[in-house]
Amino acid sequence: MSNVLITGSNRGLGLEWCRQYAATGWRIFATCRFPAQAEELQQLKIEHSALTIHRLDVTDSDQIGALARELADHPIDLLINNAGVYFEKYIQPEQAIDYEAWSHTFCVNTMSALRVSRAFLDHLRHSQKRLIVAISSHMGSIAEIESSGSYYYRSSKAALNATMKGFSLELRPQQIGVLLLHPGWVRTRMGGPDGLLSPRESVEGMRTLVDAFTLANSGRFLRYDGSEIPW
Ligand code: NDP
Repeated sequence: MSNVLITGSNRGLGLEWCRQYAATGWRIFATCRFPAQAEELQQLKIEHSALTIHRLDVTDSDQIGALARELADHPIDLLINNAGVYFEKYIQPEQAIDYEAWSHTFCVNTMSALRVSRAFLDHLRHSQKRLIVAISSHMGSIAEIESSGSYYYRSSKAALNATMKGFSLELRPQQIGVLLLHPGWVRTRMGGPDGLLSPRESVEGMRTLVDAFTLANSGRFLRYDGSEIPW
């Protein structure tokens, strides 16, 4: 049985990753900030005994360390850094820059991927697949910027790309891989109702890339359909 740990599992794409891996018989460590309030995830747990729910705010080093110790005996084949925030969706473009919100965006979208991944390196080393996925966004591509705005989100994802690309080089000698994936524009709370993809379609595409992963692909930045995104 393969094991996967997913952050931000209570809704949106994180919940869909859980659904699809549960249906394929994986062992799932589903993490979220408030397990007691994660009703859909609790329901999934009732249907799938191989899914356990763990409290994890990805900005909280103590919680990350505690979970890494709690799962010390479990290899982790796949770590999906999915949790993310996009505050500008909820503010007007002409509003003053909220530097605290920007800083928090960096904390969640950029720093946490490295923070969580580093805490689980031993678990990854003891697994078969040894893959870290970071859910990025095409909005983190500097080459694809064609409009102004969304500065916190764009910069946080561009920095995520830079960080995890570098991390992929650090981990390659240990045969641990890193993939940066853009899920497409997906109908979640973040993506909104006009998104072009359902969570199911997006995660099916990304799972295909995970299944096909080899170390030669480590450090690449790909759309859910496998096409390359320019940095
Ligand atoms: P949602 O807004 O639906 O879900 C975001 C998830 O992140 C929630 O589970 C939320 O938990 C969690 N989260 C936020 N802050 C923290 C934190 N500090 N600790 C732990 N979990 C946290 O978004 P999506 O499902 O759409 O997004 C998932 C990923 O995909 C994100 O990284 C996003 O940037 C990326 N993405 C999404 C796109 C889209 O079109 N939907 C497009 C491109 C990228 P809580 O409920 O507790 O707030």
